[in-house]
Amino acid sequence: MATDGNWHRSSAHQASGLGLLRGETRLLWHRHPLRDVEIATDGTRVLGGPVGSSDYCRSFAENLVQEVIEDLDVISRMSSLKSQHCLTVGSVQHRVNHLWRMIPGGENSIFGDLMHNYDEALLSIPRRMTGRALLPDHALGLTGLSPASGGLGYRFWRSNSDCTFLASYMHTSYHFPKLSPALAHLFPPILELVPAEGMPPPRAPSAAVAPAARALARITAATPLVHDRLVGAATVMNHTQHVLSTITNEAETRRVISLDSGLDNPDLPRHMELYHSNCGDAVTLAMVPSDSVTTLSNRSFATGIIRRLLLPISHVTRGERRRCPGCHKESTRESSRDESSRSVDEFGDTTLGCKSSLPTRTRLWHDPLVEVWLMLARMAGLRVVKRCAI
Ligand SMILES: [Zn+2]
Repeated sequence: MATDGNWHRSSAHQASGLGLLRGETRLLWHRHPLRDVEIATDGTRVLGGPVGSSDYCRSFAENLVQEVIEDLDVISRMSSLKSQHCLTVGSVQHRVNHLWRMIPGGENSIFGDLMHNYDEALLSIPRRMTGRALLPDHALGLTGLSPASGGLGYRFWRSNSDCTFLASYMHTSYHFPKLSPALAHLFPPILELVPAEGMPPPRAPSAAVAPAARALARITAATPLVHDRLVGAATVMNHTQHVLSTITNEAETRRVISLDSGLDNPDLPRHMELYHSNCGDAVTLAMVPSDSVTTLSNRSFATGIIRRLLLPISHVTRGERRRCPGCHKESTRESSRDESSRSVDEFGDTTLGCKSSLPTRTRLWHDPLVEVWLMLARMAGLRVVKRCAI
């Protein structure tokens, strides 16, 4: 039944010694001269990533990006916005991490359109949550910051692929001399590829090295501290990717804070107040809605995201006055930024501070928090009772 040079099915008794059970069939490659073995010359998949020519890597990346975009499209049909966010940030977006280690994803000439398509698909989630087709620069920046830094935790291709690829190259250049000493010169330490002050870049010893040098150049152009950190570090740092990402994220955080701060009235920095209030909590947005405590209605979740991105909640047209729904106080200026003191603002601060909203805040905010604290204490084995306010 075997046909030379072709895949064929083999029953258990023919494949004795291969551990097949009786009756099981499996595809086998019949022993045959090499002339019939298919040999890939452009590239192959190794440990889940592409190794090969630029065309092969691009084609591989294109297929993966298309899969991720299709996943995001399926996610967009989930009824819960919080579920959409959790699934995207906690799971789907990590599918490209391994790819970024193996391809120079920051090379615009090769991957520029994939970078754009991927980032746009990822952005569709926060755009949908905020109900905005376009996000201003400061909100875009916040979208990409980590939740602990007051952001939403979306990892965009444009801002992460260079760090990931560079860390991968540094790892390679460190281990390659031990694994293949004769070819070690093709992967020199990354700092040997940095041009001296005022000098042209040194000639890259191999085509594979040039993208790593360009990735470092792009990173250090935005984050000079990365270069200083590399100079003072060992040949390869522990957790290199984490270190590089941390430094670049800190630089990006400073840039976003600068944008946010620029929106403020210097005498009343409400954007920075809210930004700092949002920092440090990496849990709330990451909790998968599974019960009444972790589930938020779409309206509440969207409002929370809008406030986290420091966007206005209520819009008034020119000539209209913003008005507090509780005490009916009206604003005096077109933008609350131009108010001399706290007034009715377009960001929702008024509602949180208005005295007439106190009973509502107690019912919707204070009381549920008390219940959660009681639940946590009981989960820890404590006997607790709720004491009613006198
Ligand atoms: Zn009020």
